[in-house]
Amino acid sequence: MNRRDFLKRGALYGSAAMLAPEFLMSCARRSESQRSASQTGAAGKMKLSFFEYELKLRHVFTVATYSRTTTPDVQVRIEYDGFVGHGEASLPPYLGYTVQGTMDFLRKVDLSQFSSPFLMEDILDYVDSVAPGETPAKAAIDIALHDLVGQLCGRPLYELLGLDPTKAPSTSFTIGIDTPEVVRRKTLECADKFNVLKVKVGYDGDEQMIRTIREVTDLPLVVDANQGWTDRRKALDKIFWLKEQGVRMIEQPMPKTQLDDIAWITQHSPLPVYADESVQRLRDLPSLRGAFHGINIKLMKSTGIREAMRMIGYARAEGMRVMLGCMTETSAAVTAAASLSPLADFADLDGNLLIANDIFEGVTVVDGRLTLPVRPGLGLIEN
Ligand code: MG
Repeated sequence: MNRRDFLKRGALYGSAAMLAPEFLMSCARRSESQRSASQTGAAGKMKLSFFEYELKLRHVFTVATYSRTTTPDVQVRIEYDGFVGHGEASLPPYLGYTVQGTMDFLRKVDLSQFSSPFLMEDILDYVDSVAPGETPAKAAIDIALHDLVGQLCGRPLYELLGLDPTKAPSTSFTIGIDTPEVVRRKTLECADKFNVLKVKVGYDGDEQMIRTIREVTDLPLVVDANQGWTDRRKALDKIFWLKEQGVRMIEQPMPKTQLDDIAWITQHSPLPVYADESVQRLRDLPSLRGAFHGINIKLMKSTGIREAMRMIGYARAEGMRVMLGCMTETSAAVTAAASLSPLADFADLDGNLLIANDIFEGVTVVDGRLTLPVRPGLGLIEN
């Protein structure tokens, strides 16, 4: 990227991030004047509540390293002035966080010390300081707070962030590892609803998996090796083969501990290589310079929307591509991520479609594209 492009991009992402504070100030002033004109007088305090909610998966979910049928989850609510913001902590076991640890963290959080939910920077700095780690619990509060503030402003979250919802990209849909018969059936079921499919690879049978999918569809594919390859030369050969099969990008080809090998693959790869397991938060990004073409940002790792926006800005300044991903989650967290998706090159936001007991209706997929609700905040409707 030349200097002019770099400055242009920096200005673009700087302005998107700077829109929010001014907008929040005007919303806060309006909210305050409405309150003083009302009968109720002074605003109450923010009230945080939460409960465990186990997500039931529609199909057994298998990747290179494990299988499971449920995902632990904690739902979070922040009430203020008659409005309720919704968030959640999705806790797939590989992330290393538990329901008990999440609830213990949330019990320590005291939002009553803040006079207004519009003090988002102060509130989220405080939440991050309560204990190290616990990124899903922090994301749950961040998401609920953004939903709440959007509702108080009477505006969708994407508008609060200065984003155009018509620029939301298509989302991929994941085909899990399974027998050829099941893979064929699942692929046929979703091939006319999505514009791109995501395939888990990184194990011995992955070429068979790709061939099986190619028997029934010629849709573009993206693949996620979930750190499954350990030999860089074999991995690169596999990537060249995958390109011939119509694969467009590759996610986390090798273990995060083999960063030098990953950088070698990235240097030689005919396909863009994205980091997933190698990146959690903003502070991880400087060490990835040159090792990947792009990063997969997930709210459960980044501590939520605020830090995800900062990660996008950093990645752009480094000339890196950005994708937005998710865990298996309800439509609360998936809609939050989708609200940022106009800033992404690629979205992998199908987590709500993979569960059988979603609590909400939020973002939908229309002709394969993410379609955000035109309602305040996250625009969630409880099922
Ligand atoms: Mg991944």
